[in-house]
Amino acid sequence: MKIILLGPPGAGKGTQAVMLVEKFGIPQISTGDMLRAAVRDKSPMGLKAKEYMDAGGLVPDEVVVGIVRERLQLDDCANGFILDGFPRTVPQADALKLVLSDLGKDLDAVISLTVDTEALVERLTGRRTCSACGKGFHLSFDPPAEDGSCSACGGELTQRADDQEATIRNRLDVYLAQTAPLEDYYQRAGLLKAVDGMQSMQTVQEAIQAILQDA
Ligand code: AMP
Repeated sequence: MKIILLGPPGAGKGTQAVMLVEKFGIPQISTGDMLRAAVRDKSPMGLKAKEYMDAGGLVPDEVVVGIVRERLQLDDCANGFILDGFPRTVPQADALKLVLSDLGKDLDAVISLTVDTEALVERLTGRRTCSACGKGFHLSFDPPAEDGSCSACGGELTQRADDQEATIRNRLDVYLAQTAPLEDYYQRAGLLKAVDGMQSMQTVQEAIQAILQDA
């Protein structure tokens, strides 16, 4: 199963990817997670990427394409993968096509999660992560312990720097300008399947699994 999860920040790509990892045993390839790890490690690539990420802009195509090219060659991708947050531009999608053709692989489906803009802002501003165990929370929809700590391990919760409202608006504008054209791109390739991302997490997951059964 080789799939792309497409959709704006906050559409639920990461949440759905984790559920698909459990179901199909194939890896989630999140360029955002990989870039945040590079930023944490203060690698040269991470230091360069940080400027773009803090502003809510896109990291240059050649950087992310390089990361994904290497990642897709690892053994755990042999039976498939879930791309989450990549591609985000038409040149990235073109580059992915070449990488996959070099590896003798084809995409099975591109799942596009659609969510209203104001709901995205609400989802992203309330998002928190435990700095100790990595568990995700939402202040309104999946609140932490009463004292504001992680209900799983008691760790301190942090907010992603780019989940501040001004940066979120920029990320959504960038999505519309640079990533939304990929909906047409994959529609023309006959791969696009839209799922209403305003539904519950479980209902969205069921809709995705139903699509993948026919793919
Ligand atoms: P995400 O966790 O997917 O929301 O990504 C967080 C940030 O990482 C984005 O706002 C971008 O700055 C950067 N990023 C992640 N994936 C890509 C990509 N495919 N192309 C360019 N920048 C990316």
